Amino acid sequence: MLSLNMRLSVFFVLVAMLPCAPVKAQSDWRGQAVVHLEASPGARVRGVPVSAVQLGPGFWTERRKVVTEVSIPTLYQEFEQRGILDNFRRLAGKQVARRGPIYTDSDVYKWMEAVAFEVQSGERRNQPLLEEAIRIVSATQEENGYLNTRYTMERLSDRHQNMLHGHELYCLGHLLQAGIAWYRATGKRDLMDVGIRFVRYLQLRFGPEKEPLYDGHPEIELALIELYRTTGDRSFLDFAGYFLNSDPRLKGRISQRDLVYTFIGKPFTERTQMEGHAVRAGYAASGAADYYLETGDDKYKGTLERLWRDLAESKVYITGGIGSRQTGEAFGEAFELPNQLAYTESCAAIANFFWNWRMLAATGDARHADLLERALYNGINSGLSLDGRLYCYRNPLELSGNSNDRIRNPWYDTTCCPPNLQRVLASLPGYLFGASSEGIAVHLYHTATLDWRLPDGQPLKIRQTTTYPLEGTVHFSVEPGRETTFELGLRIPAWSSNTKVLVNGEDVGSVQSGAYHRIRRQWKPGDRVELRLDMRVRHTLANPRVRDNVGKAAVERGPVVYCLEGLDQPDGLEPEKLALDLRGNAGAATGVPSRLLGGLPVLQHPAVEQQESPSGLYHPRQASRNWKPAQARLVPYFAFANRGFTPMQVWIPYIE
Ligand SMILES: [Zn+2]
Repeated sequence: MLSLNMRLSVFFVLVAMLPCAPVKAQSDWRGQAVVHLEASPGARVRGVPVSAVQLGPGFWTERRKVVTEVSIPTLYQEFEQRGILDNFRRLAGKQVARRGPIYTDSDVYKWMEAVAFEVQSGERRNQPLLEEAIRIVSATQEENGYLNTRYTMERLSDRHQNMLHGHELYCLGHLLQAGIAWYRATGKRDLMDVGIRFVRYLQLRFGPEKEPLYDGHPEIELALIELYRTTGDRSFLDFAGYFLNSDPRLKGRISQRDLVYTFIGKPFTERTQMEGHAVRAGYAASGAADYYLETGDDKYKGTLERLWRDLAESKVYITGGIGSRQTGEAFGEAFELPNQLAYTESCAAIANFFWNWRMLAATGDARHADLLERALYNGINSGLSLDGRLYCYRNPLELSGNSNDRIRNPWYDTTCCPPNLQRVLASLPGYLFGASSEGIAVHLYHTATLDWRLPDGQPLKIRQTTTYPLEGTVHFSVEPGRETTFELGLRIPAWSSNTKVLVNGEDVGSVQSGAYHRIRRQWKPGDRVELRLDMRVRHTLANPRVRDNVGKAAVERGPVVYCLEGLDQPDGLEPEKLALDLRGNAGAATGVPSRLLGGLPVLQHPAVEQQESPSGLYHPRQASRNWKPAQARLVPYFAFANRGFTPMQVWIPYIE
């Protein structure tokens, strides 16, 4: 056997002799969606490009403005101050020590992807920063194609030695995604080609009948498949399949504990439940869904469906957050969903969002859009402070208000969440609409104009106008190039129990919730549709096996989960003595307009306050409790902990 260094040297010579084979891009870069499914055999609904949707005024426009003006520039400053960009410059000769954990490169790449999505939207304010970052990153690629600031120079001998926890391919996955987003924004291949050269380097040395390769943090899979969609080079899809199917030589080499924790090491199709590290499991499932979309492999579809049911029926929080355990940042058992201890990393809610987007594409089933909307408005949105400067890593559903529990911070050593939140919000226009062989589907509601085309290539504009989620009425104007027959599908959320749809002022009759309401007709320019969703306040109960939520209810309005924060309660009312009063007046909550909280109302909710303050830890039960009428005030969950340290709870005791 050659020593590792000798093998590497021989290998580098071989690589240096091979030209980087040019890869032809598939369809025009302007026409590619966030997840580009134009030619994907397993796709029933395809996304549209970010650039095809212009958001108008409204909820997400305000949030995206904060990302552009505050979050993205300040995170770049943090990268500079904390040496994360210097980690790259060091490889180009700057005399500094490498700083930060092993995966810092990926944080820069996710930030780059976020800015590239902004550019896709025509927002160019941060483009010079991105171009500078591209220069910094590109200058550090080795001649053989390798690029990682950790496994080089004095740590060269660590390269490919710690595949389980080393994050080498994880970082590459994010580099590829950033390069693809930049290509789709400008047609420039520079950053994507940097990523492709790294992939070529790996493909020469690793794979079936070569050396085995794996990465203990799934991410490379979905990135490679997006690269396949962008370039048409099938070897990228096959390489992703190699990781998802797991190299058979890994059998017995990865401990049972790591098989669970990393969600790699055995074929994805042998998985029976969502377990282990929530972000890893969510990214693995997203990559597997991508693989199904490209191959139509039914074994994958069956596994994905089984895992999704496991998640949706027993392991997801009402906020769309996933991963309940701090230990291992992991899923718990079924129904193990504690509130205060909830881990619910922002990245995990994002993984849930990514996975459901792909499941929606594969099935066209509204339940996936419902769940991704739930994650978006709540468990993802909560991760970014209202002013855009602070981020949650954890997004618990209850806080004691202890000032030691600093839940929002400008920076984390492991700063995966901040740029992940930025890239989701920056790409959001690409998630509103879908295209199928039948026509157009509307997944998410927000004032926006879609400028796209029908399956036959005919141009089509659809404008939605709404204040959703403040109100539930959405007006559409449909502008096909000429009179033509197609289907307009409107997602009716499962929570909207009384929905109306009017076409040119005429009520279409019964509308089923939790499904797409499909309107197939001959559309002519100027046709109008009105959707009225049921925005009444809802009280939601949990399965009694969720022990933390027994005797408690959550309050929701539209897609927004509410919470109770101590500082909002009038007259020094103590939150722990409050119970919602649901006796015959469910839904009696009234909305008080608020400018503070994304323009969404504060809810004034009938409640009762326990009069006595029981002393001691335990006390005898009293035959009747002395309740005093009160009014509780509830605010959208995503806004929690934006106004100082105060107790917070999503699940609130009630009497009925
Ligand atoms: Zn994270």
